[in-house]
Amino acid sequence: MEYLERGAMTSPPSVRRLLLAALQGALRWQSALNLIYLVSALPLGVFYVAFLLALLATGATLLIVGIGIGILMGMVVCWWGLAVFERYLTMWWLNVDIAPMSVPADPDLSPWRRYLLIVRNPVTWTSLLYLTLKLPFGALAFALAVALLTLAAGLVLAPIAYLLDNALYHVSDVYVTNFGLGIRVTGVVEPGPLLLFLLFAVLGVCLFFASIYALNALAFAWAQFAQITLGMSATSRRLAEARGVAAHERARAERADLSRRELIVNVSHELRTPIASILGHVESLMMTAEGGAEGGQDKALSSEELNGYLAIVHRESERLSALVDDLLALARADTHELRLDIQPVVLAEVVEEVYQALAPLAKRERQITMVREVPPGLPPALADRQRLAQVLLNLGRNAVAYTPDGGIVSLAVAHGEAGMLAITVADTGIGIPAEELERVFERFYRTDASRTRSSGGSGLGLAIVRELVTAMGGSVSATSAPGEGSRFTVVLRVAPSATWPR
Ligand code: ADP
Repeated sequence: MEYLERGAMTSPPSVRRLLLAALQGALRWQSALNLIYLVSALPLGVFYVAFLLALLATGATLLIVGIGIGILMGMVVCWWGLAVFERYLTMWWLNVDIAPMSVPADPDLSPWRRYLLIVRNPVTWTSLLYLTLKLPFGALAFALAVALLTLAAGLVLAPIAYLLDNALYHVSDVYVTNFGLGIRVTGVVEPGPLLLFLLFAVLGVCLFFASIYALNALAFAWAQFAQITLGMSATSRRLAEARGVAAHERARAERADLSRRELIVNVSHELRTPIASILGHVESLMMTAEGGAEGGQDKALSSEELNGYLAIVHRESERLSALVDDLLALARADTHELRLDIQPVVLAEVVEEVYQALAPLAKRERQITMVREVPPGLPPALADRQRLAQVLLNLGRNAVAYTPDGGIVSLAVAHGEAGMLAITVADTGIGIPAEELERVFERFYRTDASRTRSSGGSGLGLAIVRELVTAMGGSVSATSAPGEGSRFTVVLRVAPSATWPR
Protein backbone atom coordinates (compact mmCIF):
# COMPACT_ATOMS: atom_id res chain seq x y z
CA MET A 1 0.00 0.00 0.00
CA GLU A 2 2.75 2.31 1.01
CA TYR A 3 4.71 1.34 -2.10
CA LEU A 4 1.68 1.95 -4.25
CA GLU A 5 1.08 5.30 -2.68
CA ARG A 6 4.67 6.38 -3.11
CA GLY A 7 4.67 5.05 -6.66
CA ALA A 8 1.43 6.80 -7.45
CA MET A 9 2.75 10.00 -6.03
CA THR A 10 6.17 9.99 -7.60
CA SER A 11 5.94 8.32 -10.97
CA PRO A 12 3.98 10.90 -13.00
CA PRO A 13 5.96 13.94 -11.77
CA SER A 14 9.27 12.11 -12.23
CA VAL A 15 8.47 11.41 -15.89
CA ARG A 16 7.57 15.06 -16.25
CA ARG A 17 10.73 16.05 -14.43
CA LEU A 18 12.74 13.79 -16.69
CA LEU A 19 11.21 15.36 -19.77
CA LEU A 20 11.79 18.83 -18.35
CA ALA A 21 15.39 17.97 -17.53
CA ALA A 22 15.87 16.66 -21.08
CA LEU A 23 14.39 19.89 -22.49
CA GLN A 24 16.49 22.06 -20.26
CA GLY A 25 19.57 19.98 -21.09
CA ALA A 26 19.04 20.54 -24.79
CA LEU A 27 18.09 24.20 -24.55
CA ARG A 28 21.13 25.30 -22.54
CA TRP A 29 23.12 28.31 -23.74
CA GLN A 30 26.06 25.90 -23.99
CA SER A 31 24.19 23.94 -26.70
CA ALA A 32 24.02 27.10 -28.80
CA LEU A 33 27.74 27.70 -28.30
CA ASN A 34 28.48 24.07 -29.21
CA LEU A 35 26.42 24.45 -32.38
CA ILE A 36 28.20 27.67 -33.38
CA TYR A 37 31.55 25.95 -32.72
CA LEU A 38 30.60 22.93 -34.85
CA VAL A 39 29.31 25.01 -37.75
CA SER A 40 32.35 27.30 -37.72
CA ALA A 41 34.71 24.28 -37.67
CA LEU A 42 34.36 23.79 -41.45
CA PRO A 43 35.48 27.27 -42.61
CA LEU A 44 38.24 27.30 -39.98
CA GLY A 45 39.39 23.81 -41.01
CA VAL A 46 39.45 24.84 -44.68
CA PHE A 47 41.49 27.91 -43.78
CA TYR A 48 44.02 25.98 -41.67
CA VAL A 49 44.61 23.27 -44.26
CA ALA A 50 44.75 25.72 -47.18
CA PHE A 51 47.08 28.10 -45.31
CA LEU A 52 49.46 25.39 -44.13
CA LEU A 53 49.45 23.64 -47.52
CA ALA A 54 50.22 26.96 -49.23
CA LEU A 55 53.15 27.55 -46.86
CA LEU A 56 54.36 23.97 -47.32
CA ALA A 57 54.17 24.18 -51.10
CA THR A 58 55.88 27.59 -51.23
CA GLY A 59 58.57 26.49 -48.78
CA ALA A 60 59.22 23.22 -50.63
CA THR A 61 59.37 24.96 -54.03
CA LEU A 62 61.75 27.64 -52.79
CA LEU A 63 64.01 25.16 -51.01
CA ILE A 64 66.45 25.38 -53.92
CA VAL A 65 66.83 29.15 -53.54
CA GLY A 66 67.41 29.01 -49.82
CA ILE A 67 64.55 31.05 -48.40
CA GLY A 68 62.38 27.92 -48.54
CA ILE A 69 63.86 26.65 -45.30
CA GLY A 70 62.92 29.95 -43.63
CA ILE A 71 59.34 29.60 -44.86
CA LEU A 72 59.15 26.01 -43.61
CA MET A 73 60.53 27.06 -40.23
CA GLY A 74 58.06 29.94 -40.11
CA MET A 75 55.29 27.45 -40.89
CA VAL A 76 55.96 25.71 -37.56
CA VAL A 77 55.53 29.00 -35.73
CA CYS A 78 52.35 29.72 -37.73
CA TRP A 79 50.73 26.41 -36.88
CA TRP A 80 51.78 26.84 -33.26
CA GLY A 81 49.99 30.23 -33.30
CA LEU A 82 46.89 28.68 -34.91
CA ALA A 83 46.94 25.91 -32.29
CA VAL A 84 47.12 28.53 -29.50
CA PHE A 85 44.07 30.27 -31.05
CA GLU A 86 42.21 26.94 -31.37
CA ARG A 87 43.02 26.07 -27.75
CA TYR A 88 41.47 29.30 -26.49
CA LEU A 89 38.49 29.02 -28.88
CA THR A 90 37.79 25.46 -27.73
CA MET A 91 38.15 26.38 -24.07
CA TRP A 92 35.80 29.37 -24.41
CA TRP A 93 33.12 27.87 -26.66
CA LEU A 94 33.15 24.24 -25.57
CA ASN A 95 33.75 25.18 -21.95
CA VAL A 96 36.57 22.71 -21.31
CA ASP A 97 39.84 23.00 -19.50
CA ILE A 98 42.87 22.31 -21.68
CA ALA A 99 46.32 21.97 -20.13
CA PRO A 100 48.88 24.59 -21.25
CA MET A 101 50.71 23.80 -24.50
CA SER A 102 54.09 24.35 -22.84
CA VAL A 103 55.63 25.52 -19.60
CA PRO A 104 56.47 29.25 -19.60
CA ALA A 105 59.89 29.72 -21.18
CA ASP A 106 62.68 31.59 -19.44
CA PRO A 107 62.31 35.23 -20.62
CA ASP A 108 66.08 35.46 -21.08
CA LEU A 109 66.12 32.69 -23.72
CA SER A 110 67.22 33.69 -27.20
CA PRO A 111 64.62 33.50 -30.03
CA TRP A 112 66.48 30.51 -31.49
CA ARG A 113 66.34 28.56 -28.18
CA ARG A 114 62.65 29.40 -27.92
CA TYR A 115 62.13 28.10 -31.45
CA LEU A 116 63.94 24.86 -30.58
CA LEU A 117 61.72 24.50 -27.51
CA ILE A 118 58.64 24.75 -29.75
CA VAL A 119 60.00 22.20 -32.22
CA ARG A 120 60.94 19.74 -29.45
CA ASN A 121 57.57 20.06 -27.72
CA PRO A 122 55.38 17.00 -28.55
CA VAL A 123 52.28 19.24 -28.38
CA THR A 124 53.56 21.11 -31.46
CA TRP A 125 53.21 17.90 -33.46
CA THR A 126 49.94 16.69 -31.96
CA SER A 127 48.52 20.17 -32.60
CA LEU A 128 49.40 19.75 -36.29
CA LEU A 129 47.32 16.57 -36.28
CA TYR A 130 44.50 18.56 -34.66
CA LEU A 131 44.65 21.33 -37.26
CA THR A 132 44.67 18.81 -40.14
CA LEU A 133 41.75 16.83 -38.74
CA LYS A 134 39.76 20.01 -38.14
CA LEU A 135 38.78 20.04 -41.84
CA PRO A 136 37.18 16.54 -42.05
CA PHE A 137 35.70 17.02 -38.62
CA GLY A 138 34.28 20.40 -39.67
CA ALA A 139 32.78 18.86 -42.82
CA LEU A 140 31.18 16.03 -40.82
CA ALA A 141 29.89 18.39 -38.12
CA PHE A 142 28.54 20.85 -40.67
CA ALA A 143 26.80 18.13 -42.70
CA LEU A 144 25.32 16.53 -39.60
CA ALA A 145 24.15 19.82 -38.13
CA VAL A 146 22.58 21.04 -41.36
CA ALA A 147 21.02 17.66 -42.25
CA LEU A 148 19.57 16.90 -38.83
CA LEU A 149 18.31 20.38 -38.09
CA THR A 150 16.75 20.98 -41.53
CA LEU A 151 15.09 17.54 -41.40
CA ALA A 152 13.71 18.32 -37.94
CA ALA A 153 12.51 21.74 -39.09
CA GLY A 154 10.92 20.16 -42.20
CA LEU A 155 9.01 17.65 -40.10
CA VAL A 156 7.86 20.31 -37.60
CA LEU A 157 6.60 22.49 -40.43
CA ALA A 158 4.87 19.59 -42.27
CA PRO A 159 1.31 20.17 -40.93
CA ILE A 160 1.52 23.90 -41.66
CA ALA A 161 2.69 23.14 -45.17
CA TYR A 162 -0.17 20.67 -45.61
CA LEU A 163 -2.74 23.19 -44.40
CA LEU A 164 -1.31 25.97 -46.54
CA ASP A 165 -1.06 23.68 -49.52
CA ASN A 166 -4.70 22.66 -49.30
CA ALA A 167 -5.85 26.16 -48.62
CA LEU A 168 -3.86 27.76 -51.45
CA TYR A 169 -4.75 25.18 -54.09
CA HIS A 170 -8.41 25.35 -53.38
CA VAL A 171 -9.17 29.04 -53.50
CA SER A 172 -12.63 28.93 -54.94
CA ASP A 173 -13.51 32.57 -55.05
CA VAL A 174 -11.98 36.02 -54.72
CA TYR A 175 -14.52 38.77 -54.10
CA VAL A 176 -14.73 42.42 -53.19
CA THR A 177 -15.94 43.42 -49.73
CA ASN A 178 -16.32 46.76 -47.98
CA PHE A 179 -12.89 46.26 -46.49
CA GLY A 180 -11.04 45.10 -49.60
CA LEU A 181 -10.49 41.74 -51.28
CA GLY A 182 -11.86 38.54 -49.74
CA ILE A 183 -10.86 34.93 -50.43
CA ARG A 184 -13.16 31.99 -50.18
CA VAL A 185 -11.32 28.78 -49.51
CA THR A 186 -13.08 25.57 -50.25
CA GLY A 187 -10.13 23.29 -49.74
CA VAL A 188 -10.76 20.00 -48.05
CA VAL A 189 -8.61 19.27 -45.07
CA GLU A 190 -8.76 15.51 -44.60
CA PRO A 191 -8.39 14.45 -40.96
CA GLY A 192 -6.32 11.35 -41.91
CA PRO A 193 -3.41 13.13 -43.65
CA LEU A 194 -3.58 16.01 -41.14
CA LEU A 195 -3.13 13.56 -38.28
CA LEU A 196 -0.23 12.01 -40.11
CA PHE A 197 1.42 15.39 -40.60
CA LEU A 198 0.83 16.26 -36.95
CA LEU A 199 2.61 13.03 -36.08
CA PHE A 200 5.47 14.15 -38.34
CA ALA A 201 5.62 17.42 -36.39
CA VAL A 202 5.89 15.56 -33.08
CA LEU A 203 8.58 13.40 -34.65
CA GLY A 204 10.34 16.58 -35.84
CA VAL A 205 10.37 18.02 -32.31
CA CYS A 206 11.81 14.73 -30.99
CA LEU A 207 14.39 14.72 -33.79
CA PHE A 208 15.30 18.33 -32.97
CA PHE A 209 16.08 17.48 -29.36
CA ALA A 210 17.84 14.24 -30.34
CA SER A 211 19.95 16.23 -32.84
CA ILE A 212 20.90 18.77 -30.19
CA TYR A 213 21.99 15.90 -27.94
CA ALA A 214 23.90 14.22 -30.78
CA LEU A 215 25.63 17.50 -31.71
CA ASN A 216 26.47 18.14 -28.04
CA ALA A 217 27.98 14.64 -27.87
CA LEU A 218 30.01 15.37 -31.01
CA ALA A 219 31.26 18.64 -29.51
CA PHE A 220 32.13 16.81 -26.28
CA ALA A 221 34.10 14.14 -28.18
CA TRP A 222 35.99 16.85 -30.10
CA ALA A 223 36.71 18.69 -26.85
CA GLN A 224 38.29 15.48 -25.49
CA PHE A 225 40.39 15.21 -28.63
CA ALA A 226 41.44 18.86 -28.23
CA GLN A 227 42.44 18.20 -24.63
CA ILE A 228 44.76 15.41 -25.77
CA THR A 229 46.25 17.17 -28.79
CA LEU A 230 46.39 20.83 -27.73
CA GLY A 231 47.53 20.45 -24.12
CA MET A 232 50.50 18.84 -22.44
CA SER A 233 49.90 15.36 -21.07
CA ALA A 234 49.92 14.86 -17.31
CA THR A 235 53.28 13.04 -17.56
CA SER A 236 54.99 15.72 -19.60
CA ARG A 237 53.51 18.37 -17.32
CA ARG A 238 54.97 16.60 -14.29
CA LEU A 239 58.27 16.17 -16.12
CA ALA A 240 58.33 19.85 -17.09
CA GLU A 241 57.48 20.85 -13.54
CA ALA A 242 60.27 18.64 -12.20
CA ARG A 243 62.65 20.17 -14.76
CA GLY A 244 61.48 23.63 -13.75
CA VAL A 245 62.08 22.88 -10.05
CA ALA A 246 65.53 21.47 -10.87
CA ALA A 247 66.42 24.53 -12.96
CA HIS A 248 65.12 26.81 -10.22
CA GLU A 249 67.19 24.99 -7.61
CA ARG A 250 70.25 25.07 -9.86
CA ALA A 251 69.83 28.81 -10.40
CA ARG A 252 69.38 29.28 -6.64
CA ALA A 253 72.53 27.28 -5.91
CA GLU A 254 74.43 29.29 -8.53
CA ARG A 255 73.12 32.54 -7.05
CA ALA A 256 74.06 31.39 -3.54
CA ASP A 257 77.53 30.45 -4.77
CA LEU A 258 77.92 33.80 -6.50
CA SER A 259 76.74 35.76 -3.47
CA ARG A 260 79.12 33.73 -1.27
CA ARG A 261 82.00 34.64 -3.54
CA GLU A 262 80.84 38.27 -3.66
CA LEU A 263 80.57 38.25 0.12
CA ILE A 264 84.16 37.07 0.49
CA VAL A 265 85.38 39.76 -1.92
CA ASN A 266 83.31 42.46 -0.19
CA VAL A 267 84.29 41.40 3.33
CA SER A 268 87.99 41.28 2.39
CA HIS A 269 87.65 44.68 0.76
CA GLU A 270 85.93 46.18 3.80
CA LEU A 271 88.46 44.66 6.21
CA ARG A 272 91.46 45.76 4.17
CA THR A 273 90.99 49.52 4.64
CA PRO A 274 90.84 49.65 8.46
CA ILE A 275 93.50 46.94 8.84
CA ALA A 276 95.87 48.78 6.48
CA SER A 277 95.26 51.99 8.40
CA ILE A 278 95.85 50.32 11.79
CA LEU A 279 98.99 48.59 10.47
CA GLY A 280 100.39 51.80 9.01
CA HIS A 281 99.86 53.82 12.19
CA VAL A 282 101.11 51.10 14.52
CA GLU A 283 104.25 50.67 12.35
CA SER A 284 104.87 54.43 12.51
CA LEU A 285 104.46 54.33 16.27
CA MET A 286 106.87 51.38 16.52
CA MET A 287 109.46 53.11 14.34
CA THR A 288 109.19 56.25 16.46
CA ALA A 289 109.51 54.19 19.62
CA GLU A 290 112.63 52.47 18.20
CA GLY A 291 114.06 55.89 17.18
CA GLY A 292 113.35 57.23 20.67
CA ALA A 293 115.07 54.22 22.23
CA GLU A 294 118.14 54.78 19.99
CA GLY A 295 118.26 58.36 21.27
CA GLY A 296 117.20 60.11 18.04
CA GLN A 297 115.25 63.05 19.49
CA ASP A 298 114.09 64.30 16.07
CA LYS A 299 112.19 61.07 15.46
CA ALA A 300 110.13 61.34 18.65
CA LEU A 301 106.44 62.26 18.29
CA SER A 302 104.81 65.08 20.16
CA SER A 303 102.09 63.97 22.55
CA GLU A 304 99.53 65.63 20.21
CA GLU A 305 100.76 63.52 17.27
CA LEU A 306 100.81 60.43 19.42
CA ASN A 307 97.22 61.03 20.52
CA GLY A 308 96.22 61.62 16.90
CA TYR A 309 97.78 58.28 15.82
CA LEU A 310 96.17 56.42 18.69
CA ALA A 311 92.78 58.02 17.96
CA ILE A 312 92.99 56.77 14.37
CA VAL A 313 93.94 53.25 15.52
CA HIS A 314 91.07 53.36 18.01
CA ARG A 315 88.54 54.57 15.41
CA GLU A 316 89.60 51.97 12.85
CA SER A 317 89.47 49.20 15.47
CA GLU A 318 85.93 50.30 16.34
CA ARG A 319 85.04 50.23 12.67
CA LEU A 320 86.43 46.70 12.41
CA SER A 321 84.54 45.59 15.47
CA ALA A 322 81.27 47.13 14.13
CA LEU A 323 81.82 45.41 10.80
CA VAL A 324 82.32 42.03 12.48
CA ASP A 325 79.16 42.64 14.58
CA ASP A 326 77.18 43.45 11.43
CA LEU A 327 78.47 40.36 9.66
CA LEU A 328 77.58 38.19 12.63
CA ALA A 329 74.07 39.68 12.77
CA LEU A 330 73.53 38.92 9.08
CA ALA A 331 74.96 35.40 9.44
CA ARG A 332 72.51 34.77 12.31
CA ALA A 333 69.64 36.07 10.22
CA ASP A 334 70.67 33.78 7.37
CA THR A 335 70.74 30.72 9.60
CA HIS A 336 67.51 31.81 11.36
CA GLU A 337 69.39 32.13 14.63
CA LEU A 338 68.26 35.68 15.32
CA ARG A 339 66.69 35.38 18.74
CA LEU A 340 64.14 38.13 19.17
CA ASP A 341 62.18 39.04 22.24
CA ILE A 342 58.95 40.26 20.69
CA GLN A 343 56.85 42.23 23.18
CA PRO A 344 54.40 45.12 23.10
CA VAL A 345 56.69 48.15 22.82
CA VAL A 346 55.71 51.78 23.49
CA LEU A 347 57.17 53.48 20.44
CA ALA A 348 57.31 56.94 22.06
CA GLU A 349 59.90 55.60 24.50
CA VAL A 350 62.12 54.09 21.82
CA VAL A 351 61.89 57.19 19.64
CA GLU A 352 62.82 59.37 22.64
CA GLU A 353 65.81 57.11 23.40
CA VAL A 354 67.08 57.34 19.82
CA TYR A 355 66.46 61.08 19.73
CA GLN A 356 68.45 61.60 22.93
CA ALA A 357 71.30 59.44 21.60
CA LEU A 358 71.63 61.34 18.30
CA ALA A 359 70.22 64.85 18.59
CA PRO A 360 72.87 66.56 20.81
CA LEU A 361 75.81 65.29 18.73
CA ALA A 362 74.10 66.09 15.43
CA LYS A 363 73.42 69.63 16.64
CA ARG A 364 76.89 70.16 18.05
CA GLU A 365 78.96 68.71 15.23
CA ARG A 366 76.79 69.27 12.18
CA GLN A 367 74.25 71.89 13.15
CA ILE A 368 71.57 69.39 12.17
CA THR A 369 68.26 69.85 13.97
CA MET A 370 66.49 66.66 14.98
CA VAL A 371 62.76 66.71 15.69
CA ARG A 372 60.43 63.96 16.92
CA GLU A 373 56.68 63.71 16.64
CA VAL A 374 54.68 61.00 18.41
CA PRO A 375 50.93 61.63 18.78
CA PRO A 376 49.59 60.74 22.22
CA GLY A 377 47.47 57.64 22.80
CA LEU A 378 49.12 55.41 20.19
CA PRO A 379 48.85 51.67 20.92
CA PRO A 380 52.09 49.72 21.50
CA ALA A 381 53.69 47.87 18.60
CA LEU A 382 54.90 44.27 18.49
CA ALA A 383 58.70 44.41 18.39
CA ASP A 384 61.97 43.53 20.07
CA ARG A 385 62.67 46.76 21.97
CA GLN A 386 66.46 46.63 21.74
CA ARG A 387 66.55 45.64 18.08
CA LEU A 388 64.00 48.31 17.22
CA ALA A 389 66.25 50.90 18.89
CA GLN A 390 69.16 49.48 16.83
CA VAL A 391 67.07 49.84 13.64
CA LEU A 392 66.07 53.44 14.40
CA LEU A 393 69.62 54.36 15.44
CA ASN A 394 70.86 52.98 12.14
CA LEU A 395 68.30 54.94 10.12
CA GLY A 396 68.86 58.05 12.24
CA ARG A 397 72.66 57.86 11.84
CA ASN A 398 72.29 57.46 8.09
CA ALA A 399 69.91 60.42 7.96
CA VAL A 400 72.43 62.58 9.81
CA ALA A 401 75.39 61.24 7.78
CA TYR A 402 73.74 61.94 4.41
CA THR A 403 72.33 65.37 5.29
CA PRO A 404 74.44 68.49 4.75
CA ASP A 405 75.21 70.71 7.73
CA GLY A 406 72.25 72.74 8.94
CA GLY A 407 69.65 70.23 7.69
CA ILE A 408 66.70 68.68 9.51
CA VAL A 409 66.11 65.04 10.50
CA SER A 410 62.74 63.96 11.86
CA LEU A 411 61.52 60.87 13.71
CA ALA A 412 57.75 60.40 13.59
CA VAL A 413 55.22 57.71 14.50
CA ALA A 414 51.73 57.47 13.00
CA HIS A 415 48.94 54.97 12.38
CA GLY A 416 49.71 52.89 9.28
CA GLU A 417 47.25 50.72 7.36
CA ALA A 418 44.77 48.69 9.39
CA GLY A 419 46.41 47.21 12.46
CA MET A 420 49.84 48.73 11.75
CA LEU A 421 52.03 51.53 13.07
CA ALA A 422 54.51 53.42 10.91
CA ILE A 423 57.76 54.94 12.17
CA THR A 424 59.31 57.39 9.72
CA VAL A 425 62.87 58.67 9.68
CA ALA A 426 63.05 61.56 7.22
CA ASP A 427 65.84 63.96 6.32
CA THR A 428 66.56 66.94 4.10
CA GLY A 429 69.75 65.34 2.78
CA ILE A 430 71.33 64.36 -0.53
CA GLY A 431 68.59 61.82 -1.35
CA ILE A 432 68.85 58.58 -3.30
CA PRO A 433 68.27 58.26 -7.08
CA ALA A 434 65.15 56.19 -7.94
CA GLU A 435 67.15 53.41 -9.64
CA GLU A 436 69.23 52.89 -6.47
CA LEU A 437 66.38 53.08 -3.96
CA GLU A 438 65.60 49.34 -3.78
CA ARG A 439 69.27 48.40 -3.95
CA VAL A 440 70.24 50.31 -0.79
CA PHE A 441 68.81 47.40 1.22
CA GLU A 442 71.25 44.98 -0.44
CA ARG A 443 74.33 43.89 1.45
CA PHE A 444 77.38 46.06 0.82
CA TYR A 445 75.45 48.34 -1.51
CA ARG A 446 76.38 51.98 -1.37
CA THR A 447 75.09 54.65 -3.70
CA ASP A 448 77.59 56.42 -5.95
CA ALA A 449 77.05 59.63 -3.99
CA SER A 450 77.89 58.01 -0.65
CA ARG A 451 80.93 56.24 -2.08
CA THR A 452 82.36 59.53 -3.32
CA ARG A 453 81.62 61.13 0.05
CA SER A 454 83.51 58.22 1.70
CA SER A 455 81.01 58.12 4.55
CA GLY A 456 82.96 55.30 6.15
CA GLY A 457 79.94 52.95 6.06
CA SER A 458 80.22 49.40 4.82
CA GLY A 459 76.79 49.19 3.18
CA LEU A 460 75.52 46.61 5.66
CA GLY A 461 73.40 48.86 7.88
CA LEU A 462 70.19 48.87 5.82
CA ALA A 463 70.53 45.14 5.05
CA ILE A 464 70.52 44.50 8.80
CA VAL A 465 67.60 46.91 9.25
CA ARG A 466 65.56 44.93 6.73
CA GLU A 467 66.48 41.57 8.29
CA LEU A 468 65.57 42.77 11.79
CA VAL A 469 62.30 44.45 10.82
CA THR A 470 61.22 41.43 8.77
CA ALA A 471 62.05 39.13 11.69
CA MET A 472 59.77 41.31 13.85
CA GLY A 473 56.92 40.71 11.39
CA GLY A 474 57.14 44.20 9.89
CA SER A 475 58.47 45.82 6.74
CA VAL A 476 60.72 48.69 5.76
CA SER A 477 60.60 50.87 2.67
CA ALA A 478 62.18 54.03 1.36
CA THR A 479 61.16 56.98 -0.77
CA SER A 480 63.49 59.74 -1.82
CA ALA A 481 63.96 62.78 -4.02
CA PRO A 482 67.61 63.41 -4.93
CA GLY A 483 68.73 66.75 -3.59
CA GLU A 484 65.66 67.10 -1.38
CA GLY A 485 65.87 64.24 1.10
CA SER A 486 64.92 60.66 1.94
CA ARG A 487 62.23 59.03 4.04
CA PHE A 488 62.59 55.53 5.50
CA THR A 489 59.42 53.96 6.92
CA VAL A 490 59.32 51.00 9.28
CA VAL A 491 55.88 49.42 9.58
CA LEU A 492 55.13 47.23 12.61
CA ARG A 493 52.05 45.39 13.81
CA VAL A 494 49.96 46.84 16.63
CA ALA A 495 50.20 44.58 19.71
CA PRO A 496 46.94 42.74 20.52
CA SER A 497 45.09 44.88 23.12
CA ALA A 498 45.09 42.06 25.70
CA THR A 499 48.90 42.28 25.89
CA TRP A 500 49.21 46.08 26.33
CA PRO A 501 51.20 47.12 29.39
CA ARG A 502 48.91 48.70 32.01
P1 ADP B 1 76.28 52.55 5.01
O1 ADP B 1 76.93 51.90 6.15
O2 ADP B 1 77.12 52.72 3.81
O3 ADP B 1 75.52 53.77 5.38
P2 ADP B 1 73.70 51.37 4.70
O4 ADP B 1 73.29 50.00 4.36
O5 ADP B 1 73.22 51.94 5.96
O6 ADP B 1 75.26 51.44 4.56
O7 ADP B 1 73.22 52.30 3.53
C1 ADP B 1 73.45 51.90 2.23
C2 ADP B 1 73.56 53.09 1.32
O8 ADP B 1 72.28 53.72 1.23
C3 ADP B 1 74.45 54.16 1.84
O9 ADP B 1 75.79 53.91 1.50
C4 ADP B 1 73.91 55.38 1.17
O10 ADP B 1 74.41 55.42 -0.14
C5 ADP B 1 72.44 55.11 1.07
N1 ADP B 1 71.67 55.76 2.14
C6 ADP B 1 71.22 55.21 3.29
N2 ADP B 1 70.51 56.10 4.01
C7 ADP B 1 70.51 57.24 3.31
C8 ADP B 1 69.94 58.55 3.51
N3 ADP B 1 69.21 58.84 4.60
N4 ADP B 1 70.14 59.48 2.56
C9 ADP B 1 70.84 59.19 1.45
N5 ADP B 1 71.41 57.99 1.19
C10 ADP B 1 71.25 57.03 2.10
